[in-house]
Amino acid sequence: MILVSACLLGCPCKYSGGDNFSPAVQAFLKDKDYILCCPEQLGGLPTPRPPAELQHGENGSLRVVNRNGEDVTAPFLAGADAAWQLCQAHRADTAILKEGSPSCGVKRVYDGSFSGKKVPGRGITASLLAAHGVRLLSSEDIDEGQTEGSEG
Ligand code: SF4
Repeated sequence: MILVSACLLGCPCKYSGGDNFSPAVQAFLKDKDYILCCPEQLGGLPTPRPPAELQHGENGSLRVVNRNGEDVTAPFLAGADAAWQLCQAHRADTAILKEGSPSCGVKRVYDGSFSGKKVPGRGITASLLAAHGVRLLSSEDIDEGQTEGSEG
C-alpha cells in the first residue's frame, strides 16, 4: 500500500486551490494499491490558504510560518500525525510525496524567505513518516523515472 500526496493525482488541495497533477505518478500507480492524503487539509487548514514555509529558529527549533507571518506549526504537525495514522490503518509502507512542500517535501523545501529559493530539507509529514520507517519517494524522482526511493 502506498500513501500518495493527493495533489499529485489532481485533487485541488494545493494552497492556491489548484493541484500538482503528475502523469508520471499516475502511470507509476497503475495496478498498485494506494490511498490519497493531503496532510495540510487533514491538519485543519482551509483551501485555498496562504503559502507556508519552514523556518529555523536561532535555537535550532523548527516552525512553519505562512506568508502573513502566522505560525501554522500546529496544524502542520496535526496533519503529519494524521498521515502517519493513515499509513498505520492501511499498512502503507511507502509514500509518494510532492517534492518541495513544507509538508510533503522529501529532499528539498523552500528556505523560509518566501523568495522562491529551495534548500536541502524535508517537510514535516515526510520527516515523521521517514522516522517511522516509511520509504519515501519524491514526486520529482518519479517524474524523472527514478523510483528507488530514500530511507529514513
Ligand atoms: Fe499536496 Fe502535500 Fe501540499 Fe497537500 S500538503 S497540497 S498533499 S504537497
